[in-house]
Amino acid sequence: MLFDFQLQTPNEGLVDITSEVSMAVRESGVNEGICVVFCPHTTAAVTINENADPDVRRDFVLGMDKIFPDMKDFHHAEGNSDAHIKSSSVGASEIMIVRGGKLLLGTWQAVYFCEFDGPRTRKFYVKVIGE
Ligand code: ZN
Repeated sequence: MLFDFQLQTPNEGLVDITSEVSMAVRESGVNEGICVVFCPHTTAAVTINENADPDVRRDFVLGMDKIFPDMKDFHHAEGNSDAHIKSSSVGASEIMIVRGGKLLLGTWQAVYFCEFDGPRTRKFYVKVIGE
């Protein structure tokens, strides 16, 4: 079963999509299986990270900017090569386990849509497979 979602993103940052992904798992009726979240964009990504302290999300963005700064000698005309590199380094998808009809996440884990070149209207897909 495939679910389509749309979201409005900030300039740069992590948007918590755990409730949307959990809703897809519930609606799929799958009890035991696998859930894939896929981001169909080249300047955004999907990751799993801490859900407790919002400073982790802030520091994530700061750290990514430090590791992958916008460089003067990039050639890409759109001017967002740093966002393309961040997107590939984080990755376009996450795979999670579904157990007992729910996402098997750690207590402090949430699923995040990562925006590196917003604000934009973005999409992501959730595929749930199992029985
Ligand atoms: Zn570009």
